[in-house]
Amino acid sequence: MIVKLISHTNEPEKVVAAAAKLCYSNSKAQQVFSSLTTESAERFIRKLQSLGHDSPLEHASFTFAIEGVSRSLLAQVTRHRIASYSVQSQRYVDMNSSFAPIEPAILEKIPEANKEYKAAMRNAANSYKKIQALVVNAQLWNWGLESLKNFCDTSKVNIETTDFMDFLKKNNITDTNTDENVKDFADLARRKKKEFTKIGSENARSVLPNACNTQLMVTMNARELLNFFKLRCCNRAQAEVRELAWRMLIEVQKVAPALFEHAGPTCLHGGCTEGSFCCGKPFKPAENSLQVNRINNSYLCIFRRNNGTYKIKLFNSPNAYADYYSTHSELSSLEYTELL
Ligand SMILES: Cc1cc2nc3c(=O)[nH]c(=O)nc-3n(C[C@H](O)[C@H](O)[C@H](O)COP(=O)(O)OP(=O)(O)OC[C@H]3O[C@@H](n4cnc5c(N)ncnc54)[C@H](O)[C@@H]3O)c2cc1C
Repeated sequence: MIVKLISHTNEPEKVVAAAAKLCYSNSKAQQVFSSLTTESAERFIRKLQSLGHDSPLEHASFTFAIEGVSRSLLAQVTRHRIASYSVQSQRYVDMNSSFAPIEPAILEKIPEANKEYKAAMRNAANSYKKIQALVVNAQLWNWGLESLKNFCDTSKVNIETTDFMDFLKKNNITDTNTDENVKDFADLARRKKKEFTKIGSENARSVLPNACNTQLMVTMNARELLNFFKLRCCNRAQAEVRELAWRMLIEVQKVAPALFEHAGPTCLHGGCTEGSFCCGKPFKPAENSLQVNRINNSYLCIFRRNNGTYKIKLFNSPNAYADYYSTHSELSSLEYTELL
């Protein structure tokens, strides 16, 4: 999974602070904005959060490019309605070359289930390819049969089992004068085949699984992001979407630390609000973690700073966090670690 913050509102914290300050000020809107410094904006944002005055947060937007995630993640993310999405199309993109299913991480540790999963993915890819080719071929015959009748015997052709393009080649059919702008019939057929591939793809995609990979761009404002992080960084959220949420949170904290100081699952900043659904393992002690042995993944670490706020960071190896911790005196403890 790749998550990159590709764009955001310029000076997001100043914009939010100015919007909020304006509500209580008799100065002009522009004056309110230009009178703010980074420090005063941060101070004002903290005050805002303690008041529960959330609507000014909507003035700051953040756009993420997200790659290498599954369609099941997509279904969960797009439930968040206060956002804008652009998603790779399975109508316009031919999944024959782009199908790279996202394997659920847990399957690495369950070989039998993994075998079953891989077989299912192979079957899905094969069926997609076959259905797409059959639909395209049927469309081509539907389009070209009448024209072909003008100059060759098509009465015995089984159009279900005969490949249209092969038939043209075998019968040396190049010119039926169907369209004077077109070089020859075979050329026109090639163009039609491209057009019909979209119809093939949009129908064949029905057999693609939830694991199917996709990529998307998401824009959310700060208020929505806080809601998203509360719900999706929580241990109750499914593993893949939880990883996405933590990665997004780390990205936005780099550019708007005060806005997202209290972001994350509710247990990070107080008690769990999940009631009887509580996972029972919020923020386990650091020394008991890092035991899961997975490859190619990142270690999520949540440090507490001396001032009581949190610093969230990803590391590539289990030892890297210790080095970081020992060289950053503003950190008072490592609160939580998890493998993403
Ligand atoms: C652990 C977990 C399990 C889940 N399980 C299921 C499940 O089994 N089945 C299922 O269908 N969904 C499930 N969901 C999805 C969940 O129900 C929400 O649809 C999803 O999390 C989006 O949350 P949201 O509505 O707060 O976000 P958004 O849609 O982004 O809305 C943000 C906020 O805006 C306000 N808002 C938005 N739209 C309206 C509206 N029409 N009216 C009033 N206020 C509005 C609300 O305050 C809302 O919190 C699950 C989510 C989680 C985190």
